[in-house]
Amino acid sequence: MGDSAYPASWYAATRDVSADRPPLAARIEADVAIVGGGFAGLHSARLLALQGKRVALVERHRIGWGASGRNGGFVGAGFAERSGALIDRLGLDHTRRLYAQSQRGVAIVREAIDALGRPEIRMGAGKLSLSRTDQGAGFADRTRALADRLGAAFEPWETARVRTLLDTQRYHQAIHDPLSFHIHPLNFALALAADIEACGGAIHEATEATGLSREGGTWRLQTSRGEIAAPHVVLAGNADLGPVQPRIARAVLPVATYVTVTENIGPRLAEAIRWSGAISDTRRAGDYYRVIDGDRLLWGGRITTDTREPPRLRDMMRGDILSVYPQLGDIRIEYAWPGIMGYAPHKMPQVGEIEPGLWVCSAFGGHGLAQTAAGADAVAAGILGDDSLWRLFAPFGTSWAGGPFGRTATQLAYWSLQAHDWWDEKRQAKNAETLRT
Ligand SMILES: Cc1cc2nc3c(=O)[nH]c(=O)nc-3n(C[C@H](O)[C@H](O)[C@H](O)COP(=O)(O)OP(=O)(O)OC[C@H]3O[C@@H](n4cnc5c(N)ncnc54)[C@H](O)[C@@H]3O)c2cc1C
Repeated sequence: MGDSAYPASWYAATRDVSADRPPLAARIEADVAIVGGGFAGLHSARLLALQGKRVALVERHRIGWGASGRNGGFVGAGFAERSGALIDRLGLDHTRRLYAQSQRGVAIVREAIDALGRPEIRMGAGKLSLSRTDQGAGFADRTRALADRLGAAFEPWETARVRTLLDTQRYHQAIHDPLSFHIHPLNFALALAADIEACGGAIHEATEATGLSREGGTWRLQTSRGEIAAPHVVLAGNADLGPVQPRIARAVLPVATYVTVTENIGPRLAEAIRWSGAISDTRRAGDYYRVIDGDRLLWGGRITTDTREPPRLRDMMRGDILSVYPQLGDIRIEYAWPGIMGYAPHKMPQVGEIEPGLWVCSAFGGHGLAQTAAGADAVAAGILGDDSLWRLFAPFGTSWAGGPFGRTATQLAYWSLQAHDWWDEKRQAKNAETLRT
């Protein structure tokens, strides 16, 4: 068997060798059929295989081909929707339980990396969420109060502390989450896949699920050249599910974001960034970055509903980096790649049983590394007979994302949010100037 190429990225360049898995070319039976070889499908398959279920997973391309093999690599609790908005919508008790499930997702990732004997997949610990505007004197109390309400581990850091670690005037206060960490996501996906097979699960790459029908208590998942008959099916295809279940496919909006990795920069990177954890800013569409490979900067950012790669992606991203750390000077971007996140209109994942034996685990947006594990844990528990976890996600049922019109609306909303971010920063700069003069 060969080892077919992945789209060019630093992750692909440093990935484990992994032979192509044969396409499905027969009719097979399983306890659970799973569509999608990203983290949502892989965690679902692994958690069920560990419980003795016979799982069969199909992936259109290769394991970790989609968002799971291309992301920023940050693993942390919470969801794409902000916790404050969830409290307003669901009340504190429900939000606390959802947050606890996301913390369970962090624990599943941590425990899996340990159980797989691959400690090097974890590349750094802790996460800083930085504000680009001054949050004022009440910031620390507000942050501690929210952490307390959620049962979260995060804590406030004042501006002075942030600036001892990051040599830029761009940032003010931070929220520090000591339980977050960052990983090599493609190697984690490949390691999960190998473990599923070691537990007796079947994985077929280059296999697209094309249709789904039910006969009595059995689902039949059609693929290009085969079929899986199973009492349970898990749809974990993110924003790319296609015709296998059009209702879910239409409910998830594809949103592109970009990641770049610089050349080895040398000692000036450690002078600018003296923090080995993950870093992001709290703007509505902010930057996220981390130091990798000693002295490279992995920098992600921007979102758009135009899923084509922009022609000047490297220049755009270099400009973003230098707008925060101009002292890095003439840096070369060695890798640049796009990735697609799947968002439901409510920004929460779609997790649960939508028809008897038909499960969905999708739409994790830009917060998916721990959350896919949390969703898979809830789905696996449901298949094993405990409905309590997936029902936490029931208020976020599948709703239509609006097709091309939804995309236009999302893009307009994004531009308006960017304009708000820009305006907040300008207004603060002007206020600071007025105070100085
Ligand atoms: C650039 C980028 C940066 C990100 N950074 C972070 C981060 O730092 N931290 C974080 O928590 N989250 C981050 N995310 C989000 C996170 O990566 C995703 O939420 C998560 O990986 C989604 O996993 P998934 O399994 O649902 O989807 P995917 O990884 O996209 O997997 C879905 C798979 O299903 C396959 N598929 C779809 N339909 C079919 C079909 N019909 N038949 C067969 N196969 C099919 C696809 O080929 C694909 O491989 C980022 C996302 C991107 C794109």
